[in-house]
Amino acid sequence: MTGPKHSCGVVGISADHDIVAVLQKALMIIQHRGQESAGISVFDGMTIHTVKDAGLVQTALSRSRIEGLHGNMGIGHVRYATTGGKGVRNAQPLTMTTAFGVVAIGHNGDITNYGNLRKEYLANGAVFQTDSDTELIINIMSKYLGQNSNPILAIRATMSEIDGAYALVLIINDRLFAVRDPHGIRPLILGKIKGGYVAVSESAAIDALGGQIVRDVVPGEIVEIFKDSFKSNMPKFTCPYAHCMFEWVYFARPDSVIDGQEVYDVRRRIGVVLARESPAKVDLVMPIPDSGRAHAIGFSNESGIPYEEGFMKNRFAERTFIMPDQHERELAVSTKMNPIKSTVAGKKVLIVDDSIVRGTTLKQLVLMLRKAGAKEVHVRIGSPPITAPCYYGVDMKTRDQFIANGHSVDEICKIIGADSLGYISISGLVEAIGIPAEKLCLACLNGQYPTRIEGERERFQSTLGDSSFQS
Ligand code: SF4
Repeated sequence: MTGPKHSCGVVGISADHDIVAVLQKALMIIQHRGQESAGISVFDGMTIHTVKDAGLVQTALSRSRIEGLHGNMGIGHVRYATTGGKGVRNAQPLTMTTAFGVVAIGHNGDITNYGNLRKEYLANGAVFQTDSDTELIINIMSKYLGQNSNPILAIRATMSEIDGAYALVLIINDRLFAVRDPHGIRPLILGKIKGGYVAVSESAAIDALGGQIVRDVVPGEIVEIFKDSFKSNMPKFTCPYAHCMFEWVYFARPDSVIDGQEVYDVRRRIGVVLARESPAKVDLVMPIPDSGRAHAIGFSNESGIPYEEGFMKNRFAERTFIMPDQHERELAVSTKMNPIKSTVAGKKVLIVDDSIVRGTTLKQLVLMLRKAGAKEVHVRIGSPPITAPCYYGVDMKTRDQFIANGHSVDEICKIIGADSLGYISISGLVEAIGIPAEKLCLACLNGQYPTRIEGERERFQSTLGDSSFQS
């Protein structure tokens, strides 16, 4: 609820039947990953057709807009802008005609050496129609496809130039690929569906399509997807993994499984750890709906304190993050949330949320609870304090937006007006995720980045520009 903004979501499908409606359905399931624009590119046996627009999937890809579109292979994308503007011209998939044919691409993540590479490619005559890093990827790929008509070699060579986070779905002429960056920062998973195969950001979409999870795309892997199988192309050398911890804490759907860990289960365990690390003498535990719900259930189970729903959420209110300024965002909170007075009046309540970025929303929620008669309001947070920017596709770009930057936990507690505040520790979070710390990205918590970022501390020695990624 009070956490940072999502990145994007991607899907690619190859099947023995028309997949346009299937792509649309998959995008609806991963809609939470981006609401600014949606699009699909479909190969009809001859060429690639693309439909995309601003708005939610049901608007951008309404029945009238996709009727007449047919094909057995396609990719889809939902977008929340993190690099490049929010305009429709940056909506994805992007398509481009190269020396080797037509390429369509959908990208989740951010390319961290985008600025330098763009300058370099512009100087060498490349033309850019957007300010999106995805267009840079397509330009680099175009260069390599021109030099060598083998798409896998071209993708591998492109990977050797780009740094950062990328889960990609690609159609190159009549072939479909799924690609995950060598650190595996953003999720990408393979599934078997009726009459075909799918690669998608989150496994919940595979469930919704009536399919079965096959496995996660391995970091650095290029997977070619066919209607009846898939073929893997592994990197020659592996990088240290750095899966984004925020996928489990906040971004992903609770019913998704990412890198072997179910999101709901991780969130529940976070609540268990929080209850051990920051206990409180209160009458009830309640979530900030919906993202804090599993955390609060875990806290309640571990502490034995009753769980209650103390906020009513207006599901039809606009999401707070698309409000352009802070004042509008503040007004939006009361439209979106209302305390249930009979639950909280006269009680000592403990609210659990996934994370705090600015703290503005949380401050208002605490105040609302007091106005509704809560005797005490205690706050527990399912991620450690966020103090450093994210360069990997999450909308947390500057240090000055973080309340935890320059404020102690006690100071933040005072700012939000709570009686007590407790964050989960980094070691507690790692325990709850169930993946060793050295395989996670924790950069926004500890300032140690898995790739080279100018002016920031790098955690691992190897970089994505290493020649070891040349096939
Ligand atoms: S910096 Fe934070 S939000 Fe960004 S990828 Fe790493 S863990 Fe995720």
